Amino acid sequence: KHVADKIAAGEVVDRPLSIVKELVENSIDAGATSITIEIRNGGKTYIRVTDNGSGIQKEDAELAFKRHATSKIKTDTDLDHIESLGFRGEALASISAVSKVELITKTAGDKSGIRLRLEGGEMIEKEDTGCPEGTTFIIEELFFNTPARLKFMKQDATESTLIIDFISKMTLAYPQIKFRLVNNGNILFSTNGKGDIYSNILTIYSREIGDKLIHLSEDHGQMALEAFISAPSNSRTNRKSQIFFVNGRYISSKLMENAVTDAYQEKLFEGRYPVSFLFLRVSPESLDVNIHPNKREVRFDDEKAVREFIAASIRKSLKTKDA
Ligand code: ADP
Ligand code: MG
Repeated sequence: KHVADKIAAGEVVDRPLSIVKELVENSIDAGATSITIEIRNGGKTYIRVTDNGSGIQKEDAELAFKRHATSKIKTDTDLDHIESLGFRGEALASISAVSKVELITKTAGDKSGIRLRLEGGEMIEKEDTGCPEGTTFIIEELFFNTPARLKFMKQDATESTLIIDFISKMTLAYPQIKFRLVNNGNILFSTNGKGDIYSNILTIYSREIGDKLIHLSEDHGQMALEAFISAPSNSRTNRKSQIFFVNGRYISSKLMENAVTDAYQEKLFEGRYPVSFLFLRVSPESLDVNIHPNKREVRFDDEKAVREFIAASIRKSLKTKDA
């Protein structure tokens, strides 16, 4: 049984980033408006995620680590939620199978909270505790009991970069949530949770942006675009500052890259890429999100229409801003 658990865990948990993803998505599902993520050594030795969400009922806390015991059943097909269905009640079971976990949680209705500790999936401590409403997960010594996987992890800096990048994008997808990210004891950034995407872009990407961005907002009913783009002169030599969301989900998209290039045509030197944060909304039926398991790629029904809509919207705003 244990071997099977560890193997199954490998499919869900392959590196610190996957743990951070699962925990943060759980926090969002729990209605948190404030989430703190702390990592040490790229998350390999320590990951903490603290939220102010619903908390877990005392009698459910242990159950949360049982495979499939708790799978959230969602009736809506909202895209933002499909993502959180990712592992259907397996994440905590898988994480706890290959690490040392501490859970501290309290619901609004309870006077005290509960604290659990597990090692390699085995419960080793369980006690009532005083704590604020919400949930804290601490994951230590990832893969301590699976040496082969332990060796597979990359250098601290590589693992932490992936996590920082992920949380950065979450702040843009969820600007109404306060995110705080702490790396090896240093606060990297904290967002204010006021719903202001541009303020988060400035907070997190200020170094990459370098300059003020033009804000555009176009709504054609079927499609809507909100974007923060740079003047042609403020372009970059790589695409790192081209960040795309569709219906609230961070994606990578050749089509959207091309649409940006279309719009800036003739204003750009070869091999330059304008800073562009695009937030596209399309009707969910016109979008296929299941073409790749990581859901980072999407396919639009009418690719031409999407590309032209984006390019035209950007072109228009570059013209009016006389950039
Ligand atoms: P899933 O999210 O697919 O249900 P998980 O293994 O990720 O499966 O989580 C198991 C359960 O633990 C969740 O369904 C939820 O009830 C509870 N849970 C996990 N994290 C939190 C959290 N931060 N706040 C409240 N409940 C949580
Ligand atoms: Mg989950």
